[in-house]
Amino acid sequence: MMESCDVVIAGAGLVGATLALALGDAGLSVTLIEPRAPAVYDDRWDRRIYAVSPGSAALLAQVGAWQGMAAERVARVETMRIFGDAPGASLAFSAYDAGLGELAFIAESGRMQAALWQCLARAPHVRILCPAQCVALRLHEACAEMEFDSGTILRAQLVVGADGAQSWVREQAGIRVAEYDYGQCGVVANFSCALPHRDTAHQWFRADGVLALLPLPGNRVSMVWSTAEAHARELLALDAAALASRVGDAGNGVVGALQVITPPASFPLKMQRVAQFVAPRLALVGDAAHNVHPLAGQGVNLGFRDARELAAVLRRRGAQHDCGDLALLRRYERARREDVLSMQLATDGLQKLFASRAVWLSQARNLGMRIIQSRHRLKNLLVKHAVA
Ligand SMILES: Cc1cc2nc3c(=O)[nH]c(=O)nc-3n(C[C@H](O)[C@H](O)[C@H](O)COP(=O)(O)OP(=O)(O)OC[C@H]3O[C@@H](n4cnc5c(N)ncnc54)[C@H](O)[C@@H]3O)c2cc1C
Repeated sequence: MMESCDVVIAGAGLVGATLALALGDAGLSVTLIEPRAPAVYDDRWDRRIYAVSPGSAALLAQVGAWQGMAAERVARVETMRIFGDAPGASLAFSAYDAGLGELAFIAESGRMQAALWQCLARAPHVRILCPAQCVALRLHEACAEMEFDSGTILRAQLVVGADGAQSWVREQAGIRVAEYDYGQCGVVANFSCALPHRDTAHQWFRADGVLALLPLPGNRVSMVWSTAEAHARELLALDAAALASRVGDAGNGVVGALQVITPPASFPLKMQRVAQFVAPRLALVGDAAHNVHPLAGQGVNLGFRDARELAAVLRRRGAQHDCGDLALLRRYERARREDVLSMQLATDGLQKLFASRAVWLSQARNLGMRIIQSRHRLKNLLVKHAVA
């Protein structure tokens, strides 16, 4: 059987689902393919918590999903405090100083995903195939074809790979990817805390990695501890009380005594750079196009910015271009390269700078923090980039 649409998106993660809604709003017929059935969520706190930039929240609002997020499950970050590994080396960013409502929102991945699925269910131009898996991708001059195990062939002007860091679409298209394994894991867990966090996100660059405590609604915080694999295994093996006490001590007790509310989990950390974001009749978005260290909390935000840009390019296309036209897709790639590359360089550079035990580097990085702290314009510039 042969079916057709304008754009087929592989992967209904946060980025693919958002892009599908944005393209559907632009009047394109979209088919969204996802192998995993949507998860069912209860009241428990999701272990995957993301710092969502105001720009990303605005995109989610534009496609109708942010409104579906219960206010009592979303926290605002008004202040961010970052500590180096020498006494007095610290940085503070404030939404008030930068003239912003907030620096970021902290939200559960699962709830954002559920809000997106609700919007997808009523999006007139988006068809969802889930659970569904493609077995072949063919890129022709005039169209792209996806073949399913049922034998059905889906023909589209453009295929978008939004299928994550191990992208099958990227592999089928033969796009090269350079991978750097940090030899670290991101250990995540949620805690209740004895003291109020005052809408402040804390981050410590420590000898054993980068520890972040992000505010959750109420007296709760979410941890991301990017640390060597052996230390990650050690943290995962601790019982709840020992983990709470270890994290509380590492965070200098800023939010008082902790209690585990979501058990820890860990994720391997890698940087991936792809040789190209586009090919004739193909575009990559989200983790399929780039993977960054989570120390800046920007991975999914980069993906949302991909979705925003690709939707804008396709919406603005003239009558002479169909959606898979390479000249059009290159506009998307050009618009995204710099943002992605600068985030990869910044996160990779910071990770390596703070991972080094060399004394001169320790002095340089902590001095760097003090200099940035004293330069208000520079700080505001950094904030403006992070909230986009
Ligand atoms: C510890 C940690 C903390 C993080 N914290 C933050 C943060 O605070 N802020 C932030 O911005 N980012 C953060 N990130 C990054 C963030 O997790 C990712 O950037 C984000 O999940 C990528 O979303 P995505 O939709 O591109 O890919 P994914 O979430 O990987 O979604 C891909 C989708 O494609 C589907 N799929 C897989 N294979 C196929 C196939 N063959 N065909 C079709 N579909 C397929 C999958 O089932 C999935 O639904 C963090 C990452 C880590 C590891």
